[in-house]
Amino acid sequence: MSSRVPITFDRYLLYSEIKQYLEKVAAEYPDLCSLNSIGKSYEGRDIWALTITAGGTAKASEKPGIYVDANIHAGEVTGSMAALYLIDYLVGNYGTDDEVTKLLERVTFYVLPRVNPDGAELYLTTPHMLRSSVRLWPDDDTQDLPGLYRADINGDGKILQMRVRDDNKGEWKVSSKDPRLMVPRQPGETKGPFYRIYPEGYIKDYEGEPFTVHKVPWGLDLNRNFPSNWEPGVPGGGDYPAREPETRSIVQFIVDHPNIGAVQALHTAGGFFFRNPCKYEESKMDSQDLIATKAIARQGTKVTGYPDVKSPNSSTLTEWAYEHRGIIAYTTELWNRYERAGISLEDVRDKSDPDKFPDKFEELQLKLLEWNDRELSGKGFTDWTPFEHPQLGQVEIGGWDRKFCVQNPPPHLLEEECRKATLWVLQHASALPWVNITDIRVSDLNGTLKKVTAVIENWGYLPTNITNKAVQLKVVKKDCAELKPGPGVEVIGKAQQETDFLEGYMSGTKGPAKSAVQLSWVIKVPPRHPGQSPPPCFTVEYRSQRGGVTRKTYSLE
Ligand SMILES: [Zn+2]
Repeated sequence: MSSRVPITFDRYLLYSEIKQYLEKVAAEYPDLCSLNSIGKSYEGRDIWALTITAGGTAKASEKPGIYVDANIHAGEVTGSMAALYLIDYLVGNYGTDDEVTKLLERVTFYVLPRVNPDGAELYLTTPHMLRSSVRLWPDDDTQDLPGLYRADINGDGKILQMRVRDDNKGEWKVSSKDPRLMVPRQPGETKGPFYRIYPEGYIKDYEGEPFTVHKVPWGLDLNRNFPSNWEPGVPGGGDYPAREPETRSIVQFIVDHPNIGAVQALHTAGGFFFRNPCKYEESKMDSQDLIATKAIARQGTKVTGYPDVKSPNSSTLTEWAYEHRGIIAYTTELWNRYERAGISLEDVRDKSDPDKFPDKFEELQLKLLEWNDRELSGKGFTDWTPFEHPQLGQVEIGGWDRKFCVQNPPPHLLEEECRKATLWVLQHASALPWVNITDIRVSDLNGTLKKVTAVIENWGYLPTNITNKAVQLKVVKKDCAELKPGPGVEVIGKAQQETDFLEGYMSGTKGPAKSAVQLSWVIKVPPRHPGQSPPPCFTVEYRSQRGGVTRKTYSLE
């Protein structure tokens, strides 16, 4: 069943289109959704969060929460579309699909499809590639120096590569197996033609060789600006942790929503998920937390085919979420053209470097080109085309489409990635704690005194604290139970009781888990004349910051 707000997943939406879509969904499904801005980007665009949850007596903030964001990296626009697919899937299947319906009743989804709207807009509306923020960094004005700046000089809408014939210094030659493929020149090779390869662009103040090839001026990486293990010099990390408004808004939002126990950051590309720990060895991570992190990832692998990988990166959202908040978090790298071309992740990781493995490099590139011809009708690679360069003279421009083949899937393969991401997020969400009041009993003590006993159970995989790390960090409050007297009822002694966290079923393989607790109170119920005053009642409320709030009312009539 599809949602009442039409959307297709065969193109990449601009900021205004995403905003419009979110507004329509919020208007069409007011019982399920609410739309809020969590802050403004560097250029002043709102960063939108759609909160999705259904029914019950608990508010959104009173349910276990999963935070899903996308597109912190400007060009990784697949993530945005996947987040929109998740929204479409949730609202469209609520009430018809049993699994989605139950999940939405017990979990709150916070979905932020585009947390770096400025960067994505620049990526989608200009030929430029950029990593993340549009704030110029580390320098605020870099366009004045002599040298090569990237630009779409032939007007085809893309910034590709230029190959320039140089039989003396040329580092590259044309592969004998495919004239499109450039392979590194080997020691002792003297018979050309040889080429140098540059990014497509113009050269300011050209005075012949040598000239500098400038990096793009947008050197910030918002996903290295989180306040965990941040140090000056982290590439792209910025001036100080959470300095950038996008990063700061995300940190603030997660801290302001202590019910969040799951974080999913949607990225491209690679076809795997990064997980914790990042900075240190696995043996140093809390063993229970590691088991849970890996077990949830395994369920994700089943629905995506993507494996989990220990992250080598610091100061990322995923690292901060675990190290500072004790949240189980993943960075999901969607889309992998190598995999599509039948190349293994190991080969890409270990053997695709043209300097170290030139033969393997050639083999893998040939496979990619074959895949491109077979599956994309050749559209992923622009053949080398002669061009009269204003400074360099005769050059050829060509190469891979880095935006919609390398970094993101070509539009006709987009929906499949969106679906994978959605199924994975649902797997992660269903591991969250699930607290229920399963029994309330009342027995007579003497006279007007009665004893109330309540049984509270966690039916989820994860404990109500989510991780041991969260307890060590003291970022999660103990669970708490309260008997709230209604008319005609008085509590004797303490109405509120602090309790231990409830384990989840993950802890039960060596013997039953402590996933249930029995609590009791004494109440006084004075006699009354039936029909003259409302029937006496009370409510048992169990409050768990990350396991949710659950309440049940008991009538003594
Ligand atoms: Zn990324």
